[in-house]
Amino acid sequence: MNNSIVKERAWGRPELCLDLPVWGLYCPGCQHPVGARLIAEVLDELGIADRAILIIGVGCHAFSGFALNFDVVSSCHGRAPDLATAVKRIHPDTIVFSLQGDGDCIAIGAGPFIGALTRGEMITIIMLNNTNYGTTGGQLAPTTLMEQRTTTTPEGRTADREGYPAHVAELAAGFKGTAYSARGALNNLANYKRTKKYIKTAFQKQINNVGLSYVEVISACPPNWHLSPLESLEWIEEKVIPEFPLGEFKNVDRIE
Ligand code: SF4
Repeated sequence: MNNSIVKERAWGRPELCLDLPVWGLYCPGCQHPVGARLIAEVLDELGIADRAILIIGVGCHAFSGFALNFDVVSSCHGRAPDLATAVKRIHPDTIVFSLQGDGDCIAIGAGPFIGALTRGEMITIIMLNNTNYGTTGGQLAPTTLMEQRTTTTPEGRTADREGYPAHVAELAAGFKGTAYSARGALNNLANYKRTKKYIKTAFQKQINNVGLSYVEVISACPPNWHLSPLESLEWIEEKVIPEFPLGEFKNVDRIE
């Protein structure tokens, strides 16, 4: 089998995703690299890769920062929206976006995240929601589902002890300075395409100087979910999406 046939069957690799061993650091079935690939496709299709600056958070998603062929800056844990704010204000002609996990964005990074929303910064925030702290061994995160077992809730999340899952896309939509908020998933081709459209719209809001844009992407974490990669895709459909519905929660062309 020659190489061109393999590339055709596998959809090929976006030029903005470098062919480096770092992709092999991800667990089988992890959807973080799928999310990175999707972002690379969108930047390429919008023709903005040469002025895009990714501020990457701390977590498994950060591995991809080493293999993306555009400007990437690493931030301290949870501080990506602060750094993105600074970069965008100093270089207003660039397209600045953060890529963060749920722990990075809405637990440790809740303050910077809410601050950026409050100020309506002209940045894009993309949050990969895998309902746990993946990198550190699968602890409870604000997005952990009710009854979900994690290493810190071995008998499952309960309302009395840990409260309820945080609905971040809905939260982001409630801020005046937010131009766009949406939640997508990657568990099948239809959802992949829909999520790609959301990310494209989010970048378009920044290109048009409308306001802050936010996209949450539900992302499988098979080992910490104690499921196989295929079971994880079904679990997203049966459990995660009912808790975190997909769709657009805000989409305006002007903040007034
Ligand atoms: S622990 Fe979860 S998020 Fe981290 S690489 Fe593995 S599957 Fe991906």
